[in-house]
Amino acid sequence: MKIGFIGLGQMGAPMAANLVTAGFEVTGFDVVTAASGGLRQASSAKDAAQGMDCVITMLPDGNALQQVANAIIPHMTKGALLIDCSTVDVAATRATGDQAIAAGLGYIDAPVSGGITGAINATLTFMIGGKGEDVSRAMTLFETMGKKAVHCGDIGSGQSAKICNNMILGATMIATCEAFDLADRLGLDRGKMFDVVSTSSGYSWSMNAYCPAPGIGPDSPADHDYRPGFSAELMLKDLSLAMAAAENAGANPKIGKTAKMIYDTFVQENGKGKDFSAILPWLKSSG
Ligand code: NAD
Repeated sequence: MKIGFIGLGQMGAPMAANLVTAGFEVTGFDVVTAASGGLRQASSAKDAAQGMDCVITMLPDGNALQQVANAIIPHMTKGALLIDCSTVDVAATRATGDQAIAAGLGYIDAPVSGGITGAINATLTFMIGGKGEDVSRAMTLFETMGKKAVHCGDIGSGQSAKICNNMILGATMIATCEAFDLADRLGLDRGKMFDVVSTSSGYSWSMNAYCPAPGIGPDSPADHDYRPGFSAELMLKDLSLAMAAAENAGANPKIGKTAKMIYDTFVQENGKGKDFSAILPWLKSSG
């Protein structure tokens, strides 16, 4: 299978390299980064898409996706597959999907969870929206780049699953940081707090697998001066997408709105370039 890969950033570059390692012929393009890891360098997005059986995009947002889609869809071979792995708004996904299908292509939205480490180690989870026959055709690719792929439903449902997951993640990370801050102020040892909560009803991925307190639990960005990991800006982006989707769907997620407001303030005041778990030292310093 000949694959075009567009968007060779922190996530896209290792994902594309894993496809090459597995024996796929991959041609890559990025407006900034040169192709590496055994990829053939394309001269443009169009060049990375023409004649390919499948094109994968891993881009910052819905605007970039629509820009790339406009450039490549008219030049892709009929019957080929366009897979978008970026996290983008549900409306942009559905619009791009309609455009691809009208041009005789298959379309899948397949955002990921697992971060840069998951992209490097091929342990990502894919949340997939699209037609069953298209998803079946792409399954070997998901199995090569990740460890789990869940077909959630029609086009757009992968993005829906992603923003629901990350709304929970943002809220539980803030709650975990607030609990550590309160524990500190009550004179409770952080290690004891972790021992109790990680095996009690307050446990969560934020506490158990990605503890925001340094020196406690498995290795996490807190142990590396809060270098991302998953940046506070990306969490703010995902919470903004979740709140926009909630408004369109008539939902009123009060905790989700509060989480978005907190990440908004954190990014403006102190969080740029830091991991999203750096809420903990910020809470401590902001009194
Ligand atoms: P990134 O900024 O490192 O990479 C995006 C790449 O797209 C950049 O290299 C940029 O130059 C390129 N690009 C932008 N516009 C382009 C265009 N028109 N044509 C070609 N290339 C273009 O971002 P990332 O961390 O790799 O994230 C990519 C996507 O994955 C985002 O949607 C993000 O929300 C999602 N995501 C990221 C993580 C993470 O931990 N970084 C985790 C899960 C999901």
